Amino acid sequence: MTDPRRTSPPDSNETSHPETMADATVVWKELMYEAGRRSRAEVELFLTTFLSACQAQGWSDLEALRRLVALEDPDLYRAIVTGRLPESFPEALQVVWSDFVRRWPTRRAVSVSRTGPLRAGEWVLLMDAKGRRYLTRLEPGQNFTFHLGSVPMDTLIGQTEGTAVRSSKGHTLLVFRPTLRDYLLQMPRHAQVVYPKDSAIMAMWGDLYPGARVLEAGLGSGALAMVILRAIGPTGRLVSYEIRADFIRRAVRNIERWLGYVPENHEIHHEDIARAQVEPGSFDRVFLDLPTPTDGLAVATGALRPGGILVSISPTVPQVQETVEWLRASNLYGSIEVLEVLVRPWNVRGPSVRPAHFMVAHTVFIVVARRLRPGQTFVDDVYI
Ligand code: SAH
Repeated sequence: MTDPRRTSPPDSNETSHPETMADATVVWKELMYEAGRRSRAEVELFLTTFLSACQAQGWSDLEALRRLVALEDPDLYRAIVTGRLPESFPEALQVVWSDFVRRWPTRRAVSVSRTGPLRAGEWVLLMDAKGRRYLTRLEPGQNFTFHLGSVPMDTLIGQTEGTAVRSSKGHTLLVFRPTLRDYLLQMPRHAQVVYPKDSAIMAMWGDLYPGARVLEAGLGSGALAMVILRAIGPTGRLVSYEIRADFIRRAVRNIERWLGYVPENHEIHHEDIARAQVEPGSFDRVFLDLPTPTDGLAVATGALRPGGILVSISPTVPQVQETVEWLRASNLYGSIEVLEVLVRPWNVRGPSVRPAHFMVAHTVFIVVARRLRPGQTFVDDVYI
């Protein structure tokens, strides 16, 4: 079955749009329940208000609903969490929409604090004596249940981080707010995410700084995007490309769950990076995590300003080889480096002071290179 959300705007001649008012209403309501987690009554009430505002605009009900249904997932999701429809919607509908969003904020919109007592709605990390970690959200009246018993969440709300609590079966759990590293390893994911051990090095080798303009492909589950957003801060700008709409939706949610909001300075394009239209030299850094890195190299090279840095990661040697050969053949890069990151945890307990028995042996290779100024060529034969 064709998913109506994937169709182009309603003024095109696409035939896969919902044909009847009933179909359009069903699709739209599902989107609203799913994206906003609102009650059915709230959605019904909003629909009535929205449609009468549409009539005042001279739009038929069906046309109005089709316009909503035709929004790409990230656009609809962004509209729901920011209270702003895309600009193609008239001002009168913007007012109805933002009124709805203000009156019935999404259930998951939470102001995430990083310090102070733990609050209802926040994510917490519970750690047992074996160091196992559980990420959970504090819901008043609910229990956190795991194989060693349960803990009423009301006993955690208001607590200070670093407190130990006892489960119903007498096991101790430590409670903390999750770090970004904890969250990245525990959040729902589709694609393979960039591991914190790699993104930590990528942020430094890629020299991310507050205010940087960064281009990224593909977005995947948004793990690397979160590290970039944190490093560039609110004055920076991140533009991500991703070909899978379902991955975009998941990534937007993951990012919003972590930050508590959808960041204004993160622009997402549902498009192949190879086809991206990017103003030459308008990015300081480019991060590529693509199954075929060479798909993104031409756009990356055009996008980077002189001195800009390219960071491309790949799990296999042939991908690395192709990337480096492409960069070298272009003569547009200097300082090409290839590395991998091995983090070996240690066990330190009594006399047993030794490396841990297990480690993550392989994730990706990291390629880093710096863009030359236009017209400058340089053939670097030495790759260490
Ligand atoms: N860095 C991401 C994971 C990316 S996985 C994270 O940390 O979560 C690679 C992603 O690239 C996949 O989601 C895939 O759909 C996307 N992709 C593959 N080819 C692409 C292309 N040509 N343009 C944009 N995205 C692409």
